[in-house]
Amino acid sequence: MQIVITGGAGFIGGNLARVLAEQPHVTRIRVVDNLSTGDKANLGGLDVDFFEGDVQDAALLDQAFRGADAVVHLAALPSVPRSLQDPLASHHANATGTLQVLESARRAGGPHVIAASSSSVYGANPHLPKHEDLATAPMSPYAVTKLTTEAYLSAYHHSFGLPVLPFRFFNVYGPGQRADHPYAAVIPKWISAALSGEPVTIHGDGTQTRDFTYVGTVCHVLTAALLHRVMDPRPVNLAFGTRTSLLDLITEIESATGQLTGREHKALRTGDVPHSQADSARLRALFPTVTPQPIHEGIATAVGWFRSAVGVTASS
Ligand code: NAD
Repeated sequence: MQIVITGGAGFIGGNLARVLAEQPHVTRIRVVDNLSTGDKANLGGLDVDFFEGDVQDAALLDQAFRGADAVVHLAALPSVPRSLQDPLASHHANATGTLQVLESARRAGGPHVIAASSSSVYGANPHLPKHEDLATAPMSPYAVTKLTTEAYLSAYHHSFGLPVLPFRFFNVYGPGQRADHPYAAVIPKWISAALSGEPVTIHGDGTQTRDFTYVGTVCHVLTAALLHRVMDPRPVNLAFGTRTSLLDLITEIESATGQLTGREHKALRTGDVPHSQADSARLRALFPTVTPQPIHEGIATAVGWFRSAVGVTASS
């Protein structure tokens, strides 16, 4: 199998490339990435064909998709706050980028296209757990771009018979997720703060909950979907229905780092949802052998990665 990963130099893409490189059926991995948030270091030591550039570049995609069996479309500006600051940039990268990926896939003869959507599409719908058939209610331009991604996949399936599978990722975390950029996610930011002896910043009172999903589990599901050619134009939640509050997350980080952290509270951020928990019935039916990684194990692995790869060690 020849597989293209757009956004393959990013956090999830780099982890996925590493897992796919171990699969005997995968003969070639190609990565399309403009390195806007990603880093080639995430692909260090792997034998991949790298196509540096934007997913809005049709000619580049046509080159990368030639002869491909599958495309895992992860390239995006993956941040709610960033989309509030520059909605058009998010729209271009995430929505127009997806349309270009689908057009190029169509020209390439219809490889299997798996794409990353997000739990943010549930937005203001308060119902828990989040079942895929719930009404979507985006609270940010980012969420709109992800809903658009799903809608385009569905349209290309129904109009052109393209084999597709949209996944709604929840809060993915683990090795390779960095803290050193302005839109970093909460887990790497807090691990980095704990190891540096700095306080963590909590937006709100910390009772908000998230369905944190370990990146190794996400890659396991994506790999199974690729190898078994799982196709469905309806979105599938990629999370297991676990709920961890931000306050409990701090306790997990303190336990894994051996550092007690100070806490600073700030106002809630626009676009952030109070609670997020997946209904995982559809995921479990499609991938019955996949089991989630308990959060304390996943956090311990992420802390280990920070210590070794990023070089942040606990201050004395
Ligand atoms: P990331 O920022 O680490 O990876 C995104 C990659 O895409 C980067 O390597 C970046 O350089 C590349 N990229 C961005 N815009 C591009 C463009 N226009 N053309 C080519 N490459 C481009 O983010 P991630 O956490 O690995 O996220 C991967 C995907 O999963 C994204 O689509 C994101 O929206 C989605 N997602 C992630 C999470 C999460 O918790 N990490 C949750 C929900 C959805």
